[in-house]
Amino acid sequence: SRLIIGLTGGIASGKTAATRAFEAHGIVVADADLAAREAVAVGSAGLEAVVARFGAGALAADGGLDRRAMRERIFADPEARTQLEAIIHPRVREALRSACEAAGSPYAIAAIPLLAEGGRAAYPWLHRVLVIDVPVALQMDRLLARDGIDHTLATRMISAQASRDARLAIADDVLPNDATLAALDARVAALDQRYRALAAGMALQP
Ligand code: ATP
Repeated sequence: SRLIIGLTGGIASGKTAATRAFEAHGIVVADADLAAREAVAVGSAGLEAVVARFGAGALAADGGLDRRAMRERIFADPEARTQLEAIIHPRVREALRSACEAAGSPYAIAAIPLLAEGGRAAYPWLHRVLVIDVPVALQMDRLLARDGIDHTLATRMISAQASRDARLAIADDVLPNDATLAALDARVAALDQRYRALAAGMALQP
Protein backbone atom coordinates (compact mmCIF):
# COMPACT_ATOMS: atom_id res chain seq x y z
CA SER A 1 0.00 0.00 0.00
CA ARG A 2 0.98 3.62 -0.38
CA LEU A 3 3.27 5.28 2.16
CA ILE A 4 1.13 7.57 4.32
CA ILE A 5 2.67 10.12 6.66
CA GLY A 6 0.68 11.73 9.47
CA LEU A 7 1.65 15.35 9.97
CA THR A 8 0.88 17.17 13.19
CA GLY A 9 1.99 20.09 15.32
CA GLY A 10 0.63 22.56 17.84
CA ILE A 11 -1.31 25.70 17.03
CA ALA A 12 0.70 28.09 14.86
CA SER A 13 3.58 25.61 14.69
CA GLY A 14 3.71 25.88 10.90
CA LYS A 15 1.48 23.02 9.70
CA THR A 16 0.08 25.13 6.88
CA ALA A 17 3.52 26.36 5.86
CA ALA A 18 4.90 22.80 5.92
CA THR A 19 2.02 21.24 3.99
CA ARG A 20 2.31 23.93 1.31
CA ALA A 21 5.98 23.03 0.97
CA PHE A 22 5.16 19.33 0.54
CA GLU A 23 2.48 20.22 -1.99
CA ALA A 24 5.07 22.22 -3.93
CA HIS A 25 6.91 18.90 -4.34
CA GLY A 26 3.76 17.39 -5.83
CA ILE A 27 2.69 15.55 -2.70
CA VAL A 28 -1.02 15.08 -1.97
CA VAL A 29 -2.04 16.36 1.46
CA ALA A 30 -5.38 15.38 2.98
CA ASP A 31 -6.48 17.78 5.69
CA ALA A 32 -8.42 16.70 8.78
CA ASP A 33 -9.97 20.14 9.31
CA LEU A 34 -11.37 20.11 5.79
CA ALA A 35 -12.50 16.50 6.15
CA ALA A 36 -14.30 17.41 9.38
CA ARG A 37 -16.21 20.12 7.54
CA GLU A 38 -17.09 17.75 4.70
CA ALA A 39 -18.18 15.05 7.15
CA VAL A 40 -21.15 17.20 8.15
CA ALA A 41 -21.71 19.10 4.90
CA VAL A 42 -25.23 19.71 3.64
CA GLY A 43 -26.64 16.46 2.27
CA SER A 44 -24.04 14.26 3.99
CA ALA A 45 -24.81 11.11 5.96
CA GLY A 46 -22.84 12.67 8.81
CA LEU A 47 -25.16 15.67 9.03
CA GLU A 48 -28.14 13.31 8.91
CA ALA A 49 -26.70 11.41 11.87
CA VAL A 50 -26.18 14.65 13.79
CA VAL A 51 -29.81 15.66 13.23
CA ALA A 52 -31.01 12.17 14.20
CA ARG A 53 -29.17 12.54 17.51
CA PHE A 54 -29.50 16.24 18.30
CA GLY A 55 -32.64 17.27 16.46
CA ALA A 56 -33.32 19.96 13.92
CA GLY A 57 -31.94 22.51 16.40
CA ALA A 58 -28.52 21.40 15.20
CA LEU A 59 -29.22 23.04 11.84
CA ALA A 60 -28.67 26.64 10.84
CA ALA A 61 -31.10 28.54 8.61
CA ASP A 62 -29.15 27.51 5.50
CA GLY A 63 -29.59 23.81 6.28
CA GLY A 64 -25.97 23.36 7.31
CA LEU A 65 -24.68 22.48 10.77
CA ASP A 66 -25.21 25.30 13.25
CA ARG A 67 -21.65 25.27 14.53
CA ARG A 68 -22.20 27.91 17.12
CA ALA A 69 -25.23 26.14 18.61
CA MET A 70 -23.36 22.83 18.63
CA ARG A 71 -20.31 24.43 20.23
CA GLU A 72 -22.45 25.75 23.05
CA ARG A 73 -24.22 22.45 23.44
CA ILE A 74 -21.08 20.35 23.72
CA PHE A 75 -19.40 22.92 25.92
CA ALA A 76 -22.18 22.47 28.46
CA ASP A 77 -22.54 18.71 28.02
CA PRO A 78 -19.55 16.34 27.83
CA GLU A 79 -21.75 13.43 26.77
CA ALA A 80 -23.08 15.45 23.84
CA ARG A 81 -19.47 16.14 22.89
CA THR A 82 -18.62 12.45 22.97
CA GLN A 83 -21.63 11.65 20.83
CA LEU A 84 -20.90 14.36 18.30
CA GLU A 85 -17.29 13.18 18.06
CA ALA A 86 -18.49 9.60 17.64
CA ILE A 87 -20.34 10.76 14.54
CA ILE A 88 -17.63 12.97 13.07
CA HIS A 89 -14.29 11.38 13.95
CA PRO A 90 -14.69 7.97 12.27
CA ARG A 91 -15.89 9.73 9.11
CA VAL A 92 -12.91 12.05 9.16
CA ARG A 93 -10.48 9.17 9.62
CA GLU A 94 -12.07 7.22 6.79
CA ALA A 95 -12.04 10.26 4.48
CA LEU A 96 -8.37 10.92 5.23
CA ARG A 97 -7.46 7.31 4.68
CA SER A 98 -9.24 6.96 1.36
CA ALA A 99 -7.91 10.31 0.08
CA CYS A 100 -4.36 9.20 0.93
CA GLU A 101 -4.83 5.73 -0.57
CA ALA A 102 -6.19 7.27 -3.78
CA ALA A 103 -3.44 9.89 -4.02
CA GLY A 104 -1.46 9.97 -7.24
CA SER A 105 1.75 11.09 -5.53
CA PRO A 106 4.60 8.72 -4.50
CA TYR A 107 3.48 9.07 -0.88
CA ALA A 108 0.68 11.02 0.80
CA ILE A 109 0.31 13.15 3.89
CA ALA A 110 -2.62 13.25 6.30
CA ALA A 111 -2.49 16.56 8.19
CA ILE A 112 -4.08 15.91 11.58
CA PRO A 113 -3.71 18.85 13.98
CA LEU A 114 -4.96 16.94 17.04
CA LEU A 115 -3.14 13.65 16.41
CA ALA A 116 -1.32 13.74 19.75
CA GLU A 117 -4.53 14.63 21.61
CA GLY A 118 -6.68 11.99 19.93
CA GLY A 119 -4.07 9.28 20.00
CA ARG A 120 -2.13 7.68 17.22
CA ALA A 121 -3.81 4.33 17.86
CA ALA A 122 -6.92 5.57 16.07
CA TYR A 123 -4.84 5.79 12.89
CA PRO A 124 -3.21 2.35 12.49
CA TRP A 125 -2.80 3.01 8.75
CA LEU A 126 -0.28 5.82 9.25
CA HIS A 127 3.17 4.49 8.48
CA ARG A 128 4.99 7.37 10.14
CA VAL A 129 4.21 10.46 12.16
CA LEU A 130 5.96 13.74 11.38
CA VAL A 131 5.80 16.34 14.15
CA ILE A 132 6.43 20.00 13.47
CA ASP A 133 8.32 21.24 16.45
CA VAL A 134 8.80 24.78 17.73
CA PRO A 135 9.95 26.09 21.10
CA VAL A 136 6.88 27.32 23.00
CA ALA A 137 8.13 30.92 23.22
CA LEU A 138 8.48 31.12 19.44
CA GLN A 139 5.10 29.40 18.96
CA MET A 140 3.62 32.08 21.22
CA ASP A 141 5.27 34.92 19.25
CA ARG A 142 3.95 33.58 15.93
CA LEU A 143 0.48 32.97 17.32
CA LEU A 144 0.31 36.52 18.73
CA ALA A 145 1.60 38.04 15.50
CA ARG A 146 -0.74 36.05 13.25
CA ASP A 147 -3.99 36.20 15.20
CA GLY A 148 -3.58 39.53 17.01
CA ILE A 149 -4.92 38.02 20.24
CA ASP A 150 -3.76 38.86 23.73
CA HIS A 151 -1.12 36.99 25.65
CA THR A 152 -3.59 35.44 28.09
CA LEU A 153 -5.75 33.91 25.37
CA ALA A 154 -2.69 32.67 23.45
CA THR A 155 -1.36 30.99 26.58
CA ARG A 156 -4.72 29.36 27.17
CA MET A 157 -4.92 28.09 23.58
CA ILE A 158 -1.45 26.59 23.75
CA SER A 159 -1.97 24.96 27.13
CA ALA A 160 -5.32 23.47 26.03
CA GLN A 161 -3.32 21.33 23.58
CA ALA A 162 -0.96 18.43 24.13
CA SER A 163 2.41 19.53 25.46
CA ARG A 164 5.44 19.83 23.21
CA ASP A 165 6.87 16.70 24.86
CA ALA A 166 3.66 14.69 24.44
CA ARG A 167 3.66 15.56 20.77
CA LEU A 168 7.31 14.64 20.33
CA ALA A 169 6.59 11.32 22.03
CA ILE A 170 4.48 10.16 19.06
CA ALA A 171 6.98 11.37 16.43
CA ASP A 172 8.89 9.12 14.08
CA ASP A 173 10.30 12.19 12.38
CA VAL A 174 10.65 15.73 13.65
CA LEU A 175 10.51 18.85 11.49
CA PRO A 176 11.96 21.76 13.46
CA ASN A 177 10.44 25.12 12.51
CA ASP A 178 12.60 27.39 14.62
CA ALA A 179 14.23 29.35 11.79
CA THR A 180 13.16 31.03 8.56
CA LEU A 181 10.50 29.82 6.15
CA ALA A 182 13.33 29.17 3.68
CA ALA A 183 14.94 26.88 6.24
CA LEU A 184 11.62 25.08 6.66
CA ASP A 185 11.36 24.61 2.89
CA ALA A 186 14.87 23.13 2.82
CA ARG A 187 14.00 20.69 5.60
CA VAL A 188 10.85 19.68 3.78
CA ALA A 189 12.87 19.09 0.61
CA ALA A 190 15.17 16.73 2.54
CA LEU A 191 12.22 14.90 4.11
CA ASP A 192 10.58 14.63 0.70
CA GLN A 193 13.69 12.86 -0.61
CA ARG A 194 13.64 10.45 2.34
CA TYR A 195 9.96 9.69 1.98
CA ARG A 196 10.29 9.13 -1.75
CA ALA A 197 13.09 6.65 -1.09
CA LEU A 198 11.00 4.91 1.58
CA ALA A 199 8.01 4.76 -0.76
CA ALA A 200 10.15 3.29 -3.54
CA GLY A 201 11.39 0.64 -1.10
CA MET A 202 7.83 -0.24 -0.10
CA ALA A 203 6.85 -0.58 -3.74
CA LEU A 204 9.56 -3.23 -4.20
CA GLN A 205 8.19 -5.41 -1.41
CA PRO A 206 6.00 -8.34 -2.45
P1 ATP B 1 -2.90 26.52 13.04
O1 ATP B 1 -2.62 25.53 14.09
O2 ATP B 1 -3.52 27.74 13.64
O3 ATP B 1 -3.65 26.00 11.88
P2 ATP B 1 -0.38 26.25 11.62
O4 ATP B 1 0.27 25.18 12.42
O5 ATP B 1 -0.95 25.89 10.31
O6 ATP B 1 -1.45 27.04 12.48
P3 ATP B 1 1.00 28.34 10.22
O7 ATP B 1 -0.24 29.13 9.97
O8 ATP B 1 1.65 27.64 9.12
O9 ATP B 1 0.75 27.36 11.46
O10 ATP B 1 2.10 29.28 10.90
C1 ATP B 1 1.74 30.15 12.00
C2 ATP B 1 2.23 31.56 11.73
O11 ATP B 1 3.65 31.57 11.81
C3 ATP B 1 1.89 32.07 10.35
O12 ATP B 1 1.66 33.44 10.42
C4 ATP B 1 3.14 31.76 9.54
O13 ATP B 1 3.30 32.63 8.46
C5 ATP B 1 4.23 31.95 10.59
N1 ATP B 1 5.39 31.08 10.37
C6 ATP B 1 5.40 29.74 10.24
N2 ATP B 1 6.65 29.28 10.08
C7 ATP B 1 7.46 30.37 10.13
C8 ATP B 1 8.88 30.56 10.03
N3 ATP B 1 9.71 29.53 9.88
N4 ATP B 1 9.34 31.81 10.11
C9 ATP B 1 8.51 32.86 10.29
N5 ATP B 1 7.18 32.75 10.39
C10 ATP B 1 6.65 31.52 10.32
